[in-house]
Amino acid sequence: AKTQEHNSYKFFDEAMHAQSLNRLNLEIDLRKSLEQEAFTIYYQPIFELTNHRLIGFEALVRWQHPTRGLIFPNNFISVTEETGMIVLLDRWIFYKACQQMAEWKHKFANCFPLKISINLSAKDLSKPDLIQAIDSTLAKTGLDGDSIILEITENILIEDIDQTIDLLAQLASRHIQISIDDFGTGYSSLSYLHKLPVHTLKIDRTFVEKIQTENCQYKVVSTILALSKQLGLTVVAEGIETARQLQQLQQLGCQFGQGYLFSHPLAATDIEATFLQGD
Ligand code: C2E
Ligand code: CA
Ligand code: CA
Ligand code: CA
Repeated sequence: AKTQEHNSYKFFDEAMHAQSLNRLNLEIDLRKSLEQEAFTIYYQPIFELTNHRLIGFEALVRWQHPTRGLIFPNNFISVTEETGMIVLLDRWIFYKACQQMAEWKHKFANCFPLKISINLSAKDLSKPDLIQAIDSTLAKTGLDGDSIILEITENILIEDIDQTIDLLAQLASRHIQISIDDFGTGYSSLSYLHKLPVHTLKIDRTFVEKIQTENCQYKVVSTILALSKQLGLTVVAEGIETARQLQQLQQLGCQFGQGYLFSHPLAATDIEATFLQGD
């Protein structure tokens, strides 16, 4: 028994070692890629559900790995958050997405107004120079604040409520809107919603997924929609994949949505070819 214990310990230790080596390699790769700007942004169109009118895009980062190809955020965002690299990455994305929107606004004026939704992580919000960085990007790209929606998760909001109120007020004065991402999956402390200048709730994909088959998910979605109506909030459903899900959401009065049923996230050139037309 003793040797077995010893062996299993050794095995565990080696597995741990391999894991931390992997992580270290990932971290080194990410640092290099950040320097070389080896990231790209995909854009997923967001629509008004009743008339299929395009209202904007969500910016979603992809990592162009030198040997492993295009890597999705779920495989690297957590490491960038733990190391603090997310702040640099998100600022780069914020700049690039604003630049892209300003270019599209110029080139496809007749398709506008459209809004760009950009994801921010908790780390971004705690940096005292966030507003300064945003102002600098607005000035450099010429994009107006009212073209921008920042997506943040609800857990961030309640961490330091006073600081959050102050920050959101500064964003509001620039006409930048706030959207609560993955709504329903976090603490969902409803009490903060009417205290903060929040504009939109995004219904998480997990609720949309089983809206037809599971009564509980259906109830969550209808409750979120009823709540937002009372509070005067806009709702965007994410992850709409089937016509039946769309139908159900429409019946419940959901106004906006995104998902594979309409379009996958696409590279900028594909967005231009498919969703934007010149005069
Ligand atoms: P999220 O903000 O909740 O983004 C929605 C995710 O759902 C995206 O995954 C999108 O590609 C995916 N999606 C959209 N429609 C459908 C659908 O119909 N079916 C299914 N199965 N999936 C759909 P993605 O691009 O892999 O991003 C994953 C997460 O990574 C995002 O979740 C977000 O939390 C994070 N993320 C992405 N880009 C950024 C970024 O620039 N900054 C930060 N901080 N986080 C980001
Ligand atoms: Ca999002
Ligand atoms: Ca989401
Ligand atoms: Ca999500």
